[in-house]
Amino acid sequence: MARSWLIYSMKNNSLFCFCCKLFSKRNIHLTISGMANWKHASTHLTSHENSPEHLNCMKAWKELAVRLRSGQTIDKQEEALLEAERVRWRAVLTRLTAIVQSLAVRNLALRGHTETLFTPSNGNFLKEVELMAKFDPIMKDHLNRVKRGTASHNSYLGHHVQNELIDLLSSKIISDIVDDIKQAKFFSIILDCTPDISHIEQLSVVIRVVSLMEKPHIREHFMGFLKAEESTGQHLASMILTRLEELGIPFDDCRGQSYDNRANMKGKNKGVQARLLEKNPRALFVPSSSQRWSILKNHVSITLKMWAETRWESKVKSVEPTRYHGAAVREALIEVRDNTKDPAIKAEAQSLSEEVGLYASASARLFGLQEVRYIFMEIPEPFKHTALA
Ligand SMILES: [Zn+2]
Repeated sequence: MARSWLIYSMKNNSLFCFCCKLFSKRNIHLTISGMANWKHASTHLTSHENSPEHLNCMKAWKELAVRLRSGQTIDKQEEALLEAERVRWRAVLTRLTAIVQSLAVRNLALRGHTETLFTPSNGNFLKEVELMAKFDPIMKDHLNRVKRGTASHNSYLGHHVQNELIDLLSSKIISDIVDDIKQAKFFSIILDCTPDISHIEQLSVVIRVVSLMEKPHIREHFMGFLKAEESTGQHLASMILTRLEELGIPFDDCRGQSYDNRANMKGKNKGVQARLLEKNPRALFVPSSSQRWSILKNHVSITLKMWAETRWESKVKSVEPTRYHGAAVREALIEVRDNTKDPAIKAEAQSLSEEVGLYASASARLFGLQEVRYIFMEIPEPFKHTALA
């Protein structure tokens, strides 16, 4: 006959009686330490099986099983309450996450001067919560509980939870970015260092890849700031390598490194560059052409400007330099053509100098800003007139 009550503990290498362990108050081997003496196991088990204590425990166990099945236990009711709580909190958190997300997308600050609900300057996060509670029964119920002080010890509206949600969202985004980088395989890094308000160097890390998401195009992913305790080349380089390792991005696949060209960064950069090159000789230093840029500056008093995707007016502004300084831009191009040793740049400078005036964007392209779209021709008709007026 199968002994449904008999259980074996692998850890102790011994036998226990399940129902006696649960219900019996007697201290026997089968309930306390387990039966490890296998010699007379069969005899022992048979005698235990027929003992009145065991039979009572067996009865109690079976009765409990029946009550559990029909949902008559106190536990069952507890369980239903717990389940309802779980569902409710899940719904609240889904809403709070959506609010954080919506604010983050618009680059809006979450917090205000106070953290009290229904006060004028409690910030965007709580204001959105209040707004949602006007129309959404779950949020309304949640705020009522908070007001009555029955939302247990945590309302999930405080700054700790907000920060945690932000961290979770950001790690999700980072992991998607890392996927994109890994898919592209090869990448280059763009680094810049700026001291923050407390004079701690903040190193910003941007990774540039040919993204294969949707259609292949160049993408620059901002990977966040690294706080540098020391600003030596060695320290900065090891920080970058550690960060890449944390993200699971193999530095062996790095094919270029690029830095801000300001004079005060140059020394530091050299140190970082050399160390990264030592680690991976293929991570070539790619200068953004400050030399060609300075030739342009000698000829043109204003600079070529980027345009913003969402503001057409900025496109007009970006075209201005070539509209009013076309001749000077052409001069600059000719100087680049005459001075460069690179035949490709020479040829491009030549053809661009011929085209300036027609394609205002072209000069920008040569001055190391390939990815910024300056194409004059793309400006819609009504704006073109403004630009040329
Ligand atoms: Zn038993």
